[in-house]
Amino acid sequence: MNSLDSDKLIDGKAAAAKVITEVAAEVTALKAEGFEPALAVVLVGNDPASHVYVRNKVLRAEQAGIHSLVFRMAADSPVEAVLEVIAGLNADPKVHGILVQLPLPAHIDEQLVLQAIDPAKDVDGFHSDNVGGLSQGRPVLTPCTPAGCMRLLRDRLGELSGKHAVVVGRSNIVGKPMAALLLAADCTVTVLHSRSREPQALSRQADILIAAVGRPALIDASWIKPGAMVIDVGINRIEEHGRTRLVGDVDFASVLPLASAITPVPGGVGPMTIAMLMQNTVTAACQQRNQAASEPAKESACLSTC
Ligand code: NDP
Repeated sequence: MNSLDSDKLIDGKAAAAKVITEVAAEVTALKAEGFEPALAVVLVGNDPASHVYVRNKVLRAEQAGIHSLVFRMAADSPVEAVLEVIAGLNADPKVHGILVQLPLPAHIDEQLVLQAIDPAKDVDGFHSDNVGGLSQGRPVLTPCTPAGCMRLLRDRLGELSGKHAVVVGRSNIVGKPMAALLLAADCTVTVLHSRSREPQALSRQADILIAAVGRPALIDASWIKPGAMVIDVGINRIEEHGRTRLVGDVDFASVLPLASAITPVPGGVGPMTIAMLMQNTVTAACQQRNQAASEPAKESACLSTC
């Protein structure tokens, strides 16, 4: 990679480290006032990838000074048992953020569980109150991956108003909230999905391209307008020469020469997702503290989020 191309690379690890540093400063100020933000993670079953994700989340929480609790439950736990744990966490004033690691075992109704989380503690932003608030442009707890993408976009581009953003993928956890956030930032937004016709032609209009599909190398040079900023959310495991490798949805080698900036996989959006989870936890903690004390947000130790 030449130096021009390496300037295009967006370092998600560095950006995430910056967010964690900011969050840690807020946590330090809150602790000085005798208030400790806490995140509870509910992990049901033995999915190895989920265990790795939860370990990483706990590690980042520690780095940010956030107290973390993990509730590990057997794969055959009945949904009632999961709901009972969530009810306990909802009622616990010392817990400010609740995250249920997905996917849940097949016998558990995911929506039922996500809807059971107190929206004020819903640090994944998946509760319908938060989803609805986001689509209405209200300040709510926002899904972490799209929030991380917004931070990367703003860090690189500054003002986003008027830019044409194309989001490839319309899932509830990435594509739709991503589109809502871009719209709230006054972008013109096009959402593509598996039934879209001539997706390449539409995608070539994008100043900002967000790929959230789950298909290795789907997005090649034919999808890219020269100078576009490309955010690759995809995480795909492929077998190559007997080894497993992580790749995104973007065909990095063919897109790099055309893009003005691009996130790598790994090391792009992934680290930002966890960093924004920590940010959401502190936001939720501040809001709950302010509500409990009925004091104006400006008097709080929360620096940027309340
Ligand atoms: P989903 O499978 O829920 O959604 C995929 C979306 O892609 C769907 O809307 C689907 O359309 C669309 N799609 C499928 N094929 C095409 C195509 N050929 N052209 C255009 N659109 C297409 O995936 P997620 O949104 O949950 O995740 C997407 C990717 O992001 C995955 O690789 C996942 O691992 C990764 N991810 C990464 C995270 C991170 O932290 N970096 C966090 C979350 C996810 P339709 O609706 O019509 O089926």
